[in-house]
Amino acid sequence: MRVVLLGAPGSGKGTQAKLMVEHYGVPQISTGDLLRASVKSGTELGKRAKVAMDNGDLVADDIIIGMIAERMKDDDTKDGFIFDGFPRTIPQARALDNIFDEMHHPLGHALLIDVDAELLIKRISGRLTCGNCGQMYNDFFSPPAKEGVCDKCDSDNLIKRADDNEKTVRHRVEIYNEQTRPVIGYYDAQRKVVKVEGVGDIDDVFARVKDALR
Ligand code: AMP
Repeated sequence: MRVVLLGAPGSGKGTQAKLMVEHYGVPQISTGDLLRASVKSGTELGKRAKVAMDNGDLVADDIIIGMIAERMKDDDTKDGFIFDGFPRTIPQARALDNIFDEMHHPLGHALLIDVDAELLIKRISGRLTCGNCGQMYNDFFSPPAKEGVCDKCDSDNLIKRADDNEKTVRHRVEIYNEQTRPVIGYYDAQRKVVKVEGVGDIDDVFARVKDALR
């Protein structure tokens, strides 16, 4: 299974990637998670990335491509992987194709999760994650039973990402339309794109994902 997940911010890529990890037994590689880990540990790379991330802009291609090339050397990627949030620009997609050429393994599918833009804004600006167990919530669609407390582990450490406010989210959707949407055309030209509707229950979307990848 060698898949890249495409879709606007908030389309559910991260959620579907986690279900895919369990079902297919291959790792999720999220450039957003890798970057947040670098910011948290205060590395040079993290410092360079933080300003762009806080503004909802894209981090420079050279940083991202270097990070992915390193990650792909890890042993757990040899039977496959799910890229979540990468590639986000045409140069990143080209660089990934070069990596695949070197590995002699082509990409399987580019899976596009399609969702209406206004719904996306609510999905992202309402997003909350439990800082203790990772359980995800949404203020609009799936709030915790008791406000501010995780249903799963009782922690009151429910965190909103710094870049999940409405202003930044609108900007991220604009950036997606300008810089990332062309990546769909790039994979379409290779006949790799499969599309699923990203609206509705998480498990229903996942059922569509499995059908599309069959
Ligand atoms: P995400 O968690 O995928 O929404 O990513 C959070 C932020 O990290 C984005 O808004 C970008 O600033 C940055 N980022 C993540 N992946 C990439 C990428 N492939 N290219 C450039 N910037 C990225």
